[in-house]
Amino acid sequence: MFPDYINQLFYLVGEAVVLLAVLVLILSIIVALLILYSFKTGNFFAARYMLIGIVLLENVIKAIFWVLRVDDSIIDDVGVRLRNYINNRKFSRVPYEERFIFMPQCVRSTECPAKLTPEGIKCIDCGRCRVGEAKKYAEGLGYRLFIVPGSSFIKRMIKKYQPQAIVGVGCHMEIKEGLDLCHRYGIPARGVPLLKAGCVATELDWEQFYEAIKEKDALAKK
Ligand code: SF4
Repeated sequence: MFPDYINQLFYLVGEAVVLLAVLVLILSIIVALLILYSFKTGNFFAARYMLIGIVLLENVIKAIFWVLRVDDSIIDDVGVRLRNYINNRKFSRVPYEERFIFMPQCVRSTECPAKLTPEGIKCIDCGRCRVGEAKKYAEGLGYRLFIVPGSSFIKRMIKKYQPQAIVGVGCHMEIKEGLDLCHRYGIPARGVPLLKAGCVATELDWEQFYEAIKEKDALAKK
């Protein structure tokens, strides 16, 4: 029906597609194995390539996890830890005074009396949740801590104050978006995932949070 050269072309295109699919599958399996390795050991191998692999092949890797009946939230967890690991050196060199913390409003007590202001929700340290003591501690180090009322708030504060490093608390999705946003602004950032996500009364591993904000390199100015 078609001339020979067209048939030949179809054949070549078909071969290329199959080859590409096999290549994507092999790469996805390799990245999936690296994710499991990192999740189990806490170590990262070829971190930057691994992150590129996760970003590009996330859906295929999720499908592999689904077939193997492995919890795919591991991918998000390792993705956040990987980004933190890659940012670690630059982040640690920024003095506390030039770092910001963005805390989600859902981590507050459901009876929080704090008022909404143009600079976020202003905690008055009423003692109903642990945000008050965390704020006091972080500000004692030199940080500025904001309780985020909405999604555009972080961008607005970055533009207004130009922090040199950021710690963001949130669910995996928020952290992923936040770290990507910071990457676009060239700001080294660190994500601290919530233990229990949701819209209200979420939970945070406060020890992990304090560890994350305390880290400072000897080369940091202060
Ligand atoms: S400590 Fe702060 S954030 Fe927590 S409930 Fe009281 S005012 Fe709200």
